[in-house]
Amino acid sequence: WARLRRRLSTSNNALARALADLLSVDKIDADVWDDFETTLITSDLGVGPATELTEALRKRLAVDGVADPVKAKEILTEELLRLVDPSLDRSLNLTPANDGDPAVVLVVGVNGTGKTTTVGKLARVLVAEDKSVVLGAADTFRAAAAEQLATWGERVGVETVRSDVDGADPASVAFDAVAKGVEDGVDVVIVDTAGRLHTKTGLMDELGKVKRVIEKKAPVNEVLLVLDATTGQNGMTQARIFAEVVDVTGIVLTKLDGSAKGGIVVQVQRELGVPVKLVGLGEGVDDLAPFDPEGFVQGILG
Ligand code: GDP
Repeated sequence: WARLRRRLSTSNNALARALADLLSVDKIDADVWDDFETTLITSDLGVGPATELTEALRKRLAVDGVADPVKAKEILTEELLRLVDPSLDRSLNLTPANDGDPAVVLVVGVNGTGKTTTVGKLARVLVAEDKSVVLGAADTFRAAAAEQLATWGERVGVETVRSDVDGADPASVAFDAVAKGVEDGVDVVIVDTAGRLHTKTGLMDELGKVKRVIEKKAPVNEVLLVLDATTGQNGMTQARIFAEVVDVTGIVLTKLDGSAKGGIVVQVQRELGVPVKLVGLGEGVDDLAPFDPEGFVQGILG
């Protein structure tokens, strides 16, 4: 986080700017608080949390003049941290339900959000922890997806199970990957899926079937929903749809390095009741990190 926080703070400082603006005025009046709240909303914090944060700051600063900048930042840090909720369990559950089975991680989300990249980076993290990993290329819809995943597999030194046939049944590839994981006695199987939001029923049928078929071999431990932080409210809409069709257990927020909209962390956790577990902070192999609430808040406040 120390290394990645720098990257976060250079691009993702809408809240820091809001605070700086707030403190730069001669007198903090109702209009100034209004502008502050608006900035929070545009940083994708969500209307509810933005209002809460503004109210908390307004109350705690209790100013009718100029606020002490140091104290103001301290209070904003505390209140923002409270919204991000450091008490949530953000660890990945990688304990297999049955002895000898691999843990199965299903990675879902709309194409282009960074799903395949996340699968590759996650494999890298697990390999670094001495875990054995198999990847499953169940995104059979996009022609280049399996190739891209296999390239990641080679890069991090793990095997990728894929189909030779274009447009193969995603559930069948997912099954083969988990079967391979069971056969080889690996620790974790990570399955990449297609994220076509053509229709909700289509998505539901496809993901439902993938999960059902996998569970003939081994239970699914985690369903990670990948969201692109730069897409803001669009991302929220996607998140709601996915949460309706599959039991999401954790969020991976990608492209936080290029987003001024970090507030989405708060909004997505609140609405879905699911913690942000991992964040993508770049395109490189080592740019995936566990979500650290304190580091995140410090990063976005600059
Ligand atoms: P998929 O279609 O969801 O599997 O998306 P990909 O994994 O192919 O990623 C789409 C693009 O986003 C690629 O160019 C990735 O390099 C890029 N990407 C993924 N994660 C991140 C991230 O955390 N930060 C940045 N800056 N780019 C990312």
